[in-house]
Amino acid sequence: MNFDKKYIIAIDQGTTSCRVILFDRKLKTVAKAQEGYSLEMPEEGWVEADAELIWKLQEKLLIQILTQIDPDEVGAIGITNQRETTVVWNKKTGVPIYNGIIWQDQRTSAWCQELKKDKDFVNDIQDITGLVIDPYFSATKFKWIIDHMNVDQDDILFGTIDTWLLWKMTKGLVHATDTSNASRTLLFDIHTLQWSKLLLTKFGIEEKTLPKVMPSNSEFGYFEFGNTKIPICAILGDQQAALFGQNCFKPGMVKNTYGTGCFMLMNTGEKAIKSSSGILTTIAWTINNITSYALEGSIFVAGTAIQWLRDDLEFFDDSSESETLANNSKVDGVYFVPAFSGLGAPFWDMNAQGTFFGITRQVNKADLTKATLESIGLRTCDLVFAMSNDANIPMTKLLVDGGASSNDYLMQFQSDMLGLKVVRPAQIESTALGVAKLAGYSLGFWDIDELMNLPRNTKVFSPNSTEDKREYKYSRWLKAIKLTQMWADE
Ligand code: ADP
Repeated sequence: MNFDKKYIIAIDQGTTSCRVILFDRKLKTVAKAQEGYSLEMPEEGWVEADAELIWKLQEKLLIQILTQIDPDEVGAIGITNQRETTVVWNKKTGVPIYNGIIWQDQRTSAWCQELKKDKDFVNDIQDITGLVIDPYFSATKFKWIIDHMNVDQDDILFGTIDTWLLWKMTKGLVHATDTSNASRTLLFDIHTLQWSKLLLTKFGIEEKTLPKVMPSNSEFGYFEFGNTKIPICAILGDQQAALFGQNCFKPGMVKNTYGTGCFMLMNTGEKAIKSSSGILTTIAWTINNITSYALEGSIFVAGTAIQWLRDDLEFFDDSSESETLANNSKVDGVYFVPAFSGLGAPFWDMNAQGTFFGITRQVNKADLTKATLESIGLRTCDLVFAMSNDANIPMTKLLVDGGASSNDYLMQFQSDMLGLKVVRPAQIESTALGVAKLAGYSLGFWDIDELMNLPRNTKVFSPNSTEDKREYKYSRWLKAIKLTQMWADE
């Protein structure tokens, strides 16, 4: 019967916008509905959003798409979402107790600092969850709501955005999540695939408030539209969805999303690898009851640095002009360390500040722009080398997406510095595509081999540099990092 179906719908709930995308059986985008929403920042470091509004918006966009077609022709819906964002609602009324607390929110940082003093607990957290103690993850946000809204845990349900949308879409029938989202809560044991009793006790959270954790390609529930019941067949956190969207199904396959910051994930297969350089271990997905893991690293400053050149230094009007400028640069040897808010993995120096090196009278804005683009590529190298080292898996190529991946200068530089092919799909929005692929896979629309072989329009950048040049450039970069850290220490 699935073979009568023509379409898959992806719900893509991001930090700045809600989107619904209709794909056909060749994974071509047939229709798209999108609307932005505002984040609220009531205090310094606090970032919130109205969870009810997010649901209403998502529902409106879904209906907008469903009314354009015969809803009976939709085989399944997949949900992908901003991760860690925390929603708590009254389980009887369905009304949120508090605004959704967005992943960026730092209100629990003092508590996290306190927790970090207990070194045994820090180790427990890494061993059990693969993560580090940080306000970014859901646990401390959830407990903040419990404490500050003074609620009885008998009356409430917790969810990340996927869970909240699923609960609303199923009219309160299904309270569930998938393993990829659960693995970002700081409460989930990524090895046993259970909520961790130890961590629940430590954070003061009762298990009855938490969703049932299911494989990422489960039949989670149904969305009813008129007389049609459409199965919700896939849930994946956004970065894991992008990994799937980029066909990184095998161990050693890596995708890097070049957005405001960079998010890099390496599939490590059925092995959860513990990093020695502060890179996170996370669940990529559970499919047909087999769990795949990933190493995940992020770079705080990527596209932001280009925005800085554009908006603050007023070097150009449009980010894409950075490519022409870089190509016009005649000077080598300028380095920029983009440590606007410290340096993340594998250096972890939160006091570091941004620094330019190698300025002479000849240096102009083209050279500074080139150095800034190269800094994104070099920070990516730092992560790739650390991950390959942790995983002990040789990398064969880098799959890329995100806004700044459209910069050919940066992509060629990336390929040269890694000595690897860099592959950029024409469709650089891998997130919705990823969850649509998984939903279609759940339905039997295609299998993994077919997905691998589906023709993809890609641009491949091949390394065009010598080993010597690469090593020289990277050693200069490491020197720049070292000097930056020395500056921060003073
Ligand atoms: P996010 O999803 O994090 O909001 P996007 O994936 O939309 O980000 O990417 C936007 C970022 O990419 C911006 O910071 C922008 O400056 C940068 N960017 C967009 N196009 C280019 C380009 N051609 N060259 C360099 N940077 C770019």
